[in-house]
Amino acid sequence: MALLVRNQDDYVIHNLEEDGSSDEELGHGDEVEETFDPVCSLCDNGGVLLCCEGRCMRSFHSGEEGEADSDCVTLGLTRDEIQAMRSFKCPNCEYKIHQCFSCGELGSSDEQLGAQVFQCDKATCGYFYHPNCVARRLHRHNEDAATELKERIRAGESFDCPLHVCYVCRQPEDVADPNLQMAVCRRCPKAYHRRCLPRRIAFGDNGVEGRVQRAWEGLYVNRILIYCMRHEIDEFLGTPLRDHIKFPGDGYGSDSAIVVDISSGAPECSMDESSISRDMSSLNMEVAPPKTMLAEKLEDDK
Ligand SMILES: [Zn+2]
Ligand SMILES: [Zn+2]
Ligand SMILES: [Zn+2]
Ligand SMILES: [Zn+2]
Ligand SMILES: [Zn+2]
Ligand SMILES: [Zn+2]
Repeated sequence: MALLVRNQDDYVIHNLEEDGSSDEELGHGDEVEETFDPVCSLCDNGGVLLCCEGRCMRSFHSGEEGEADSDCVTLGLTRDEIQAMRSFKCPNCEYKIHQCFSCGELGSSDEQLGAQVFQCDKATCGYFYHPNCVARRLHRHNEDAATELKERIRAGESFDCPLHVCYVCRQPEDVADPNLQMAVCRRCPKAYHRRCLPRRIAFGDNGVEGRVQRAWEGLYVNRILIYCMRHEIDEFLGTPLRDHIKFPGDGYGSDSAIVVDISSGAPECSMDESSISRDMSSLNMEVAPPKTMLAEKLEDDK
């Protein structure tokens, strides 16, 4: 049962199997909300998403069905390909090779074969890290503590990654208190409470010339999506360049190769023409950059 989830507002689950059995296995929408990312890992927009049922908990625009209104590269899968899957696992989860969320490099996450990257212990966090990378971030000013933690993680000890404490005040998240909800960077393990968010990470330009939007509400439940100051915002995309996702090998093979175009501002997707034309009626041919889409989304939620 490959899962498609439609944006964060309603979490409609499109069960692609006929018998409907997966509804029960899945339980209620709330669980989906907690387990699956309502934002595509490739383009950071919502919409109809294909959810990985592996360890990463990420979601992706599949390439199927009316999704071309975001200029996402997508996974380049057709509806037939998705339907043929019992369940969807992204190439990283399939091959047990995940990216370190700190340095971006791929490493084996296979404990049996000797893992190089290890997953954060928080149940809702799908990020992996090299022991050294995460230990250095958790102990920014204490080399000895970092080295010790690195060894412990390497030996299999669990850890919570830096996304679960505020970078400024070092206190944890509290979703019940809007001021203590987390603003979480989409591209690196850095998080701030709403009240601790640096002014430059703004929800709009705030009338300051040259300031770009770096924070969005309404994409996550009880969380804020941000791009921290480390990442330059591409003017056209309204997001940092989308060169951040690495899949091992050739993805799904030659027919539906995953095209993650690093250099171009207008990435190609490998959807064939028939699947594009199917959606022409519903498609606004003026492809809006995500900046605009996200802004509209924000307006809607007010
Ligand atoms: Zn996408
Ligand atoms: Zn995955
Ligand atoms: Zn790393
Ligand atoms: Zn984490
Ligand atoms: Zn804080
Ligand atoms: Zn960041």
